[in-house]
Amino acid sequence: MQLPILCYHKVGPITEEGRRLNIEPRRLHAHVRFFSRRGFRFLLPRELAASWPERGVCLTFDDAYASALRYGCEAVASAGGIGAFYAVPALVGKSSVWDGDLARPLADWDALRRAQELGFEIGNHTNTHPRLGGLSEVEQLEELKAAHHALTSEGIESKTVCYPYGSIGPATARLASLLGYQVGLALGRRRARPSDPKMTLPRIVLAYSDGLPMLLYKLHLLHLLPKRKRGKNLPDLENVGNEVSSTDASGS
Ligand SMILES: [Zn+2]
Repeated sequence: MQLPILCYHKVGPITEEGRRLNIEPRRLHAHVRFFSRRGFRFLLPRELAASWPERGVCLTFDDAYASALRYGCEAVASAGGIGAFYAVPALVGKSSVWDGDLARPLADWDALRRAQELGFEIGNHTNTHPRLGGLSEVEQLEELKAAHHALTSEGIESKTVCYPYGSIGPATARLASLLGYQVGLALGRRRARPSDPKMTLPRIVLAYSDGLPMLLYKLHLLHLLPKRKRGKNLPDLENVGNEVSSTDASGS
């Protein structure tokens, strides 16, 4: 069986969060309801280390934007789902400085702990959100370790890791394993397969204009099309066209 692991970012009204890497709460709710009505089981990333059910789906939210916690928990839970937020500890309660002029507020520790109490998973998205594939092994380990320690010291059970931009180098998965992680999430353009390495599982990015037809297209057809040409410094959303590999999945 193949498992859709979906990657969202912001969750808010367009008037608050715009279109970039955002999904409106009602659309997210519709996505979740689509799966719950069809009997899919919502898996947390930490459950992916074990065998997967015949019909499963995994929802993930990168960066732990304040809007994702504020609107996303309700939109997901009210449709019968559950999911995971990936936090950047050095910037928790601050803003997504890597977005430049488009920086948006990130959730604070209290919001993350509340989500955890509701059953959502909170995971490691590195300490400062670099492209790990461009760092030395020492720097990568430091990013992952600092984030792990910050999360656990704030009462967060950090059980899985998610690589910013889907960027990984040849040693990234091994380094994350050294910290005890058994599941790592990258980006791809297809559902995950049981044969995929658990430390570099592909996820499908969804955003503002993705209604149910586009959700289905991305789940079932996108991987059949040729890959798009990679460009330099592509924003997160552009990474969806790139297959996960042992090199930086986000382009050159
Ligand atoms: Zn990110």
